[in-house]
Amino acid sequence: MNISIIGAGQMGNGIAHVFAQAGHRVTLVDLSPTNLEKALATIGKNLDRQVTKGSLTAEQKATTLQNIIATSTMADGVKSAELVVEAATENVDLKLRIFKELDAHAPAGCILGSNTSSISITRIAAATQRPAQVIGMHFMNPVPVMKLVEVIRGYNTSDAVTKTVMDLSTAIGKAPVEVNDYAGFVSNRILMPMINEAIETLFQGVGGVAEIDTVMKLGMAHPMGPLQLADFIGLDTCLAILRVLQEGFGNPKYAPCPLLVQMVTAGKLGMKSGEGFYSYTAGSKDLVVAPSFR
Ligand code: NAD
Repeated sequence: MNISIIGAGQMGNGIAHVFAQAGHRVTLVDLSPTNLEKALATIGKNLDRQVTKGSLTAEQKATTLQNIIATSTMADGVKSAELVVEAATENVDLKLRIFKELDAHAPAGCILGSNTSSISITRIAAATQRPAQVIGMHFMNPVPVMKLVEVIRGYNTSDAVTKTVMDLSTAIGKAPVEVNDYAGFVSNRILMPMINEAIETLFQGVGGVAEIDTVMKLGMAHPMGPLQLADFIGLDTCLAILRVLQEGFGNPKYAPCPLLVQMVTAGKLGMKSGEGFYSYTAGSKDLVVAPSFR
């Protein structure tokens, strides 16, 4: 299948990787040539790790890389797509603009998917002339490792499109779960209030970063504490999702913790910016609490 991925950030590179490894022809589209370069380098590094582990041969790695091309022009990047998966920044206005553009340039039969973490698929679909062909395809981070794909049916998504996306997700080795379209879907409606509460707990001085994460890891059998997970997802993305929940349900319980808002304003976005609740040094796997929380 010809599959175009819009946005070559941490999710876009993983989505490109899994489709290309499954034999699909992937076009990776990003406004930023630097991000495209970084994405291709990351895919190469992640494939190397699979080769070292013995789960992939060197030939399969080479074929996977050959299956991916990169471009910074959207019209060109989607002109022969059968499926588009949009994985650009979590911002409603941006996604509405992108879907209008996709609708204008992708072939009539092309399915338009979004990897959004929380934004209404019905609203995104309404920006196009093909709402029956718009669907949520929510991969988890890191995409090559995590099995789940949350498949979100918008108000107008057709049965046929849902079946195609469910079958395709299974064929690339993922476990799709079909859900309906309300803010945050299932995954982030449950996860984000927990992360926000962990940040509020830190903000009120109930516990430190390491203490909060340790309680949740050892006490609740979570593989990663909520503050480390927030860093991993990106604090800007967490904030954007909480705003969508707050607006979507009109319930103050989703209001983001002021500490999260401050950190995003200060450019502390977690792992991708080098600092969030923890500090990240390239090449080091040690978990070091960030200076502001020591
Ligand atoms: P990111 O910031 O790492 O990457 C976003 C990319 O989109 C950047 O490379 C940016 O240059 C590009 N972009 C912005 N505007 C664009 C445009 N008009 N055309 C093409 N490219 C454009 O973000 P991310 O973490 O990869 O998140 C992407 C999407 O995936 C968001 O909707 C997010 O909610 C969702 N998501 C994120 C996670 C996570 O753990 N980070 C998990 C699941 C889903």
